[in-house]
Amino acid sequence: MNITSDKKIGPRDRFKRPISDLRISLLDQCNFRCTYCMPEKKFHQNFKFLTKQERLTHDEILRLINIAVDLGVTKIRLTGGEPLLDKNIVSLVNKISKIDGITDLALTTNGTLLRKYADDLKKAGLHRITVSLDSLDPDIFYKLNGNKGNLRDVLDGILAAEESGFKEIKINTVVQRNVNENSIIDLLSHFRGTGHVVRLIEFMDVGNKNNWNLASVISAKELIERISQYWKLIPRKESYVGEVAKRYSYADGMGEIGFITSVSNPFCGDCSRARIAANGMLYTCLFATVGTDLRKLIREGADNQEIQNVFSRTWLERSDRYSELRGLNKNKIQEQKIEMYRMGG
Ligand code: SAM
Ligand code: SF4
Ligand code: SF4
Repeated sequence: MNITSDKKIGPRDRFKRPISDLRISLLDQCNFRCTYCMPEKKFHQNFKFLTKQERLTHDEILRLINIAVDLGVTKIRLTGGEPLLDKNIVSLVNKISKIDGITDLALTTNGTLLRKYADDLKKAGLHRITVSLDSLDPDIFYKLNGNKGNLRDVLDGILAAEESGFKEIKINTVVQRNVNENSIIDLLSHFRGTGHVVRLIEFMDVGNKNNWNLASVISAKELIERISQYWKLIPRKESYVGEVAKRYSYADGMGEIGFITSVSNPFCGDCSRARIAANGMLYTCLFATVGTDLRKLIREGADNQEIQNVFSRTWLERSDRYSELRGLNKNKIQEQKIEMYRMGG
């Protein structure tokens, strides 16, 4: 396989994909226990999350972002676990927003603490917010998140983000058969005409603990058929190469819906996303089984050039296309994948 590198546009992996998007998990802890991510039975009271010492500090995160920008990264997404549990998030956002070369700075949250932070995050320079919300039916909402949080707080958090000036807030909804499939129309109806964009996500086999099975996945095709019985949908063009969601507009002008088809129609071909977990491991795929330990390098005193070389080499050697291989039944399913709450969604 040909390995190529271009100084101006940064390294290209083995399938010639650049690195443009970096997702950073600030911490692996969360105030929810979503059944598809951190099922409560496995992530119980005595579960050992990373200690403060084990997590990257903000200075370490900022240093890695600067290095990543030199490799071609322009988009940063802060995630977790629940990133708003990081009490110093506003100051971190403020510092990231000042880094030259970052054109898009986004955050994914379960929304429970958004009322508290939305205004300060906006002022600190955060561009975009995604809120995860799987149902407006209280029973389903609580069942899905392990009886945590408060649905009203999430809706109020979205309102607070709106009031602070965030536009086109993305609402991420993981759809599962026999779980929340029948509350999707209500959820879409609630957000139609608000300018916010619901993105229906196919339930994925991330990690090893969420009892994933193909029968629980509802494909985007099936969802589109069902939604079309209520509202006419018109497919939209991709707005940039590598866009994850397939976008549809409501024909009556009431906004749009996105579909994330990682199971039924994988998008590995354009995937330019890297992830840094809260403990400083660099992963080049959401379904990775191994990573590159950047924290060790930093704490052993490596200089920026050394860290950049390792980062760059990791990307150059990348050949991930897990979701495509899943579709071809060629995955090594016996391998232990890194859990999403740690790697960052
Ligand atoms: N706690 C934050 C939240 O929930 O928005 C950020 C981290 S969470 C891991 C990021 C995203 O991953 C969420 O939108 C969540 O719905 C999605 N996610 C987690 N597990 C998933 C799965 N098994 N399949 C599809 N999406 C999943
Ligand atoms: Fe927490 Fe987000 Fe995972 Fe739910 S999806 S358990 S809110 S990290
Ligand atoms: Fe990217 Fe891996 Fe997802 Fe494919 S499976 S789109 S390579 S993260």
